[in-house]
Amino acid sequence: MSGESVKVAVRVRPFNQRELDRQSKLVIKMDGQMTMIYNPEAPNDEPKKFSFDYSYWSHDGFIAKEEGITEPKPGSNYASQRIVFDNLGQGVLNNAFEGYNCSLFAYGQTGSGKSYSMVGYGANKGIVPITCDELFKTMGTNEDPNKRYEVMFSMLEIYNENVRDLLSKDNPKGGLNVRQNPKLGMFYVEGLKKVPVGSYAEIEKRMEQGTQQRTVASTNMNATSSRAHTVVTIIFDQIIKSENGETKKSSVMNLVDLAGSERADSTGATGDRLKEGANINKSLSALGNVISALADLSMGKKKIVVPYRDSVLTKLLQNALGGNSKTIMIAALSPADINYDETLSTLRYADRAKKIQNKAVINEN
Ligand code: ADP
Ligand code: MG
Repeated sequence: MSGESVKVAVRVRPFNQRELDRQSKLVIKMDGQMTMIYNPEAPNDEPKKFSFDYSYWSHDGFIAKEEGITEPKPGSNYASQRIVFDNLGQGVLNNAFEGYNCSLFAYGQTGSGKSYSMVGYGANKGIVPITCDELFKTMGTNEDPNKRYEVMFSMLEIYNENVRDLLSKDNPKGGLNVRQNPKLGMFYVEGLKKVPVGSYAEIEKRMEQGTQQRTVASTNMNATSSRAHTVVTIIFDQIIKSENGETKKSSVMNLVDLAGSERADSTGATGDRLKEGANINKSLSALGNVISALADLSMGKKKIVVPYRDSVLTKLLQNALGGNSKTIMIAALSPADINYDETLSTLRYADRAKKIQNKAVINEN
C-alpha cells in the first residue's frame, strides 16, 4: 500500500436474527468498488453511490423483496476474514517492516460488525489476530544474524473520555493521565503498561486478558456491546547491528475498535447511557473533524489547524492520522432497511476519510 496512505474499506454484515424476524429489506448493493444504498422510503429513487478501495459483502445472496433492490450475484464482493487480511492486514505488516506507523480502525454503529472484522469470533479470527500471527511468522523467517526484533503490546480503552489500562487491574478513578511529550509533541498515556511479547500465543493471551477487563454495558442495540473505544497498540522494533553500533527502526501499529457511532437518541438511552453516548460522539465527531481537516490540508488548503486536542481519542491517534502514518479504516455496515440512516451516515463518514492523503516518513533512531 505504498503511495496512498489512507485506505478505506466498507464491509456489510449478514442480516441478524432481529432483522430476519422483522423481514427487513436489503438496502445495500455492491459492485466492484462501488457501494450503493437505497432509501427504503423511496426504493425507486436512484441509490446513493460511493466508491471505496474495497467493498466487502459478507454473505451469498438474499432474496430481493422489492423492485430496485436486488441481491448481488452469489460470491460477488464476498469477503472472508482471510480476504480482508490479504487486502488490508498484509499492507499493515509490510509497512511495519518498512518502519512506518500504521493504524487500522473500525467505525460503525453498534452491531454492524466492527469487532467481527477487528478481533473476530471463535474460529473466525479477525484482522488483528491474523496480522499479529503473521507478524511473528514473518519474523521467524529472518536469517540475518545482525538483525533482531522486539515486540511490545498494550491495550487500553477510552470510556467517557477516561483512559483505562486493560492490562492493569487497578486503574485510578477518573482514568490515567494523557500527557504530551514536550519535545516530540506526541500525546501518550502516563503509566500505561507495555508488555514485551515473544510469540503470537502471548499476544492472544494478552488480548483475552484485556477483553475481560473491558467495560461492557448493554443498550437496546446490542446486549453485550462495548461502549468504549478499544485501542490495541503493537510496538515493533527492528534492531540492526553494524560496525557503527545499533540502529533501531521502530513502527507503531494502532488497532482501534471504535465504540458505536449511533446517535444516543436512537438507542433509547437515558441517564448514564446518555452521557456515554454524548462522550462517544464527542470523540467520534472530533475524529471526523480531524479527518476533514487533514483532507483539506491534503487538497492544498493552507492555514488549517488539525484539532487533535479536542478529544482523548484524537490525541492518542494523532500519530496514526498525522503525517507519518498509514491509515486504514473499515466502515462496518448493516444491510437492513431499519438501519438506513445510521448506515448512510457511516458511508458519509467513510467517504470523508477517503480524502486524506498523508505524507509518510520513516521513523529511524
Ligand atoms: P460491533 O462490534 O460493531 O458492535 P459485532 O462485530 O459484534 O458488531 O457484530 C455483530 C454480530 O454480527 C456478531 O454476532 C457477529 O458475529 C456478526 N457479524 C458481524 N460481521 C459479520 C460478518 N462479516 N460475517 C458474519 N457475521 C458477522
Ligand atoms: Mg464491538
